[in-house]
Amino acid sequence: MLSYQHAYHAGNFADVHKHLTLFAVVDYLLRKESPITYFDTHAGRGRYPLAAEETRRLGEYRHGVAPLWRERAALGQESLLAAWLAALEAMQPEAVTLSHYPGSPAWLGHRLRPEDRLWLFELHPAEHRHLDDQPLPANAQRVHGDGLAGLLDRLPVATPRLCALIDPSYERKAEYREVADTLRAAMRKVRHAVMLVWYPLLPAGRHRELLEGVREGGLRKVWRSELRRHEPGAGEHGMYGSGMLVINPPWGLDERLAKAMAEVTPRLGPGSRYRSDWWVGE
Ligand code: SAM
Repeated sequence: MLSYQHAYHAGNFADVHKHLTLFAVVDYLLRKESPITYFDTHAGRGRYPLAAEETRRLGEYRHGVAPLWRERAALGQESLLAAWLAALEAMQPEAVTLSHYPGSPAWLGHRLRPEDRLWLFELHPAEHRHLDDQPLPANAQRVHGDGLAGLLDRLPVATPRLCALIDPSYERKAEYREVADTLRAAMRKVRHAVMLVWYPLLPAGRHRELLEGVREGGLRKVWRSELRRHEPGAGEHGMYGSGMLVINPPWGLDERLAKAMAEVTPRLGPGSRYRSDWWVGE
């Protein structure tokens, strides 16, 4: 039984970390002309009105995207963060007001070229109905089904390049292992694929199973980045940070994101820290 709804968390610090990383990767991929097949294995609703009751209830965007949005005029116009915020602005119904936070389908959909393809998977029936209502280009295909199986079923792809975002809710502990197994199987079929995997940093440290599974999987280049809101205190159970793995990251991603995150962290609060390293390889 699925109960997670991303609308409660839309635009929070983890979304900023995830979508900024995704934006940067796509930016690098678009420097070449050859077509790309994208997969978004856990798509969610696609777009989140900030006035929706669920999103207002926890108001997590107020400590995530909102302070960055407010200060966007002060950011260097050449920076990755400024480009990301300009894209965010272009996705608003009224440019000067932040009223909607785009989910990964929107971040991928708005840069899709006619020669590219996008597969969006969502298993939750109600979330999928929302996704179905989103305006997306014709070459974005929505599937009501399991994203990990859906990805493996469609490999290899017809385009020369492939990029996948794997962003589960980790409601089941087994998902950490399933994601590592899927990565291993997918990379065996498409060795040059660029894969992004999001994971939560919880005091229970469950993400270690994913990281170990990836290390044991024989993958060659795995880059890791983590954004922490604070260090977890005794007795704390909630998410204190956001992690991303990028398999086969584009050259230069590390430096570009580090610069963007140096602008992000001071705006998220005094305890915020960002770090990145090679988890496997390099
Ligand atoms: N990627 C989205 C974004 O960045 O905007 C957020 C996704 S949210 C963290 C995870 C989503 O995965 C939820 O909407 C959940 O219903 C869905 N989900 C859970 N298990 C799934 C599965 N096996 N296959 C596809 N979707 C699944």
